[in-house]
Amino acid sequence: MRVLVIGAGIVGVTTAYEFAERGHDVTLLERREGAGLETSYANGAQLGAGEVTPWPGPEVPLLALRWMGRPDGPFRLRVKPDPEQWIWLWRFLLRCRNSAREERVLPNLQLALYTRARMDAVAEKFEAQGTPILFDEERAGILQIFHYDRSFKEAVEGADVMRRAGLEQRVLSARECVDIEPALGPAYQRGGIKGALYCETDRTGDAYLYTKALAEGVTRMGVRFVTGVEVERFEARGDKVAGVRTKDALYEGDIVVLAAGVGSAALARQTGVRIPVYPLKGYSVTLPVGSGVAPHASVTDEARKIVVSRLGNRVRIAGTAEVCGYDTKIEMARARSVLDGALDFMPQLSDVADKAEYWTGLRPMSPDGSPIIGQAGRYSNVYLNTGHGSLGWTLASGSAAALADLVCGSTPQIDLTPFRLKRFAFV
Ligand SMILES: Cc1cc2nc3c(=O)[nH]c(=O)nc-3n(C[C@H](O)[C@H](O)[C@H](O)COP(=O)(O)OP(=O)(O)OC[C@H]3O[C@@H](n4cnc5c(N)ncnc54)[C@H](O)[C@@H]3O)c2cc1C
Repeated sequence: MRVLVIGAGIVGVTTAYEFAERGHDVTLLERREGAGLETSYANGAQLGAGEVTPWPGPEVPLLALRWMGRPDGPFRLRVKPDPEQWIWLWRFLLRCRNSAREERVLPNLQLALYTRARMDAVAEKFEAQGTPILFDEERAGILQIFHYDRSFKEAVEGADVMRRAGLEQRVLSARECVDIEPALGPAYQRGGIKGALYCETDRTGDAYLYTKALAEGVTRMGVRFVTGVEVERFEARGDKVAGVRTKDALYEGDIVVLAAGVGSAALARQTGVRIPVYPLKGYSVTLPVGSGVAPHASVTDEARKIVVSRLGNRVRIAGTAEVCGYDTKIEMARARSVLDGALDFMPQLSDVADKAEYWTGLRPMSPDGSPIIGQAGRYSNVYLNTGHGSLGWTLASGSAAALADLVCGSTPQIDLTPFRLKRFAFV
């Protein structure tokens, strides 16, 4: 089968890998000059099965209102004259309910655990060939720290759901947090931590290094990786798409997979399909490891909505969510607020703050916080693998493998029903 994959972020490259692994003839098309240069470039680095609870929830509308006017607030809405934004916001708001959130946790968790297994299998394969994928991986777990009794209590209840679904998260006292991650010492001494959930089996790693190395790996497997080409339209033939057109060429294929991140919605519209994927802008800050104690375990600060991860000799801090269209401009006040949030509980990182590298990326967000995986609608041979939002690194490999199985007629190892586009049919 000739497979065309549009987009070489983490989702597209893992998709190309899974089809190539099953013996298909794959062409990977990317508008940028290489793989992983858009949202997969400098994210929060967490491969966090314990972090899959979707963002929309009952507390979100009030928090959003409270943060609305603050330039340093973790959430910001800039209303645009754009019906796509309003419809997306409406759908998002409708899912700010406990029942909607709970519905998503188990499917997301299963996909995260499957991703972990697929990444291990991929690592083993390339290791055996003498071309290991090196991506500054850390296997020190992820700690979610809480500053307030109420949020800690709610999180402990949520951990029960995860445990029943097969993910072990330990409930830690503030003292135990520091035993696991000494970099939290200053926050503990100040009395700033009430407790934490610790998922020891979670990992972190640089998504860009991984995407780039896997793109090189799939090229060695025979995938044709074409960069600097923007897919402009689909070439329809009857109820199928015969190929895709860029400015200068037609690429023919039997199957087209749309894995174009925040570019997916515009492309899908051309096939007559509306997919509710809208950008949610976030910031990251990367620091070199300085002389102070730098963390090895990744830390999620639930109140400040930021994550801190170790990447080799670097520390990555990420956070903020802005609904503001497709603009990736760095606003220094917001970028600094992410850094300051981390310095507040890890002040020892301040000695390297002047070396900070700032970045923004657009999370391809669906209104319910789960990706959209499966057949696209009007054309029988167009498939979607997009909308991974805040979890693209955590869910990419599993999404890719499950989609490849579905397309190739094998039974996917996880149930893809919860990820179908059809779930948005009515709202
Ligand atoms: C601040 C921040 C922190 C995050 N932290 C985490 C985290 O800790 N853990 C986690 O799991 N996830 C995290 N994420 C989310 C994760 O980074 C994304 O979900 C993931 O990178 C999306 O991957 P993607 O391949 O779908 O999109 P992208 O990486 O954006 O790739 C899409 C590709 O498609 C290409 N493209 C688009 N349109 C076309 C076209 N017409 N023709 C050709 N090519 C096209 C683009 O150039 C791009 O390279 C974070 C995101 C942000 C912004």
